[in-house]
Amino acid sequence: MAYNFHQAKFYITVNDLKSLPKTNYEIAIVGRSNAGKSSLLNTLTNQTRLAFTSKTPGRTQHINYFEICSGIHLVDLPGYGYAKVPEAIREHWVHLLGDYLQYRKEIAGLVLIMDSRHPLKELDWQMIKFFSATNKPLHIVLSKADKLTNQEKIQTLTKVKKELIDFGVNQLSLQLFSAPKRQGIDELADKLNQWLVNSEGSIEG
Ligand code: GDP
Repeated sequence: MAYNFHQAKFYITVNDLKSLPKTNYEIAIVGRSNAGKSSLLNTLTNQTRLAFTSKTPGRTQHINYFEICSGIHLVDLPGYGYAKVPEAIREHWVHLLGDYLQYRKEIAGLVLIMDSRHPLKELDWQMIKFFSATNKPLHIVLSKADKLTNQEKIQTLTKVKKELIDFGVNQLSLQLFSAPKRQGIDELADKLNQWLVNSEGSIEG
């Protein structure tokens, strides 16, 4: 079975982990603010305004659920690392993200979006550390690949992959992505499908 991400519909916005909706499976999507998360969601779902691309990065501190089909959701988590948000609020959200990534059982896999020109910043590592304890699959999307030369693309993929393998991430995949060039959409959709099909299989089996 293939899931059709074009069918994504807004489902619910929540502000705290106590209010998370009941779902079967979730694909969690995180990234530094301005990494290109909203653009990726809009491109993947082929909708211009499903997720709002940020005019004021870091302001949207909500967890947005989008429904793909009954019980299956994409989860747009708040972008982290925006310097103009007060330190205490930034810390609060990093902890909330950490709790969500570590303890939310419904997560089928995590998509971590990083600007391909500035990958693996400190807070990205923090997300990777939170999530790697779960032994669930991690898919790295290196966004804004249209800003790199072909040589830089290969170097970046190789370097990021090596660092993550050295760190000990088990179920790892990586790709380049460009929203304006619409490059990398099929690769991303294939990966998410694979996770969801595997997750459903594990329930039936
Ligand atoms: P978010 O804060 O992670 O949701 O990031 P946005 O999707 O709002 O994107 C932040 C900025 O980067 C916007 O100005 C986007 O137009 C731009 N952007 C996002 N994705 C790409 C991309 O693949 N290529 C280029 N060149 N710019 C991008």
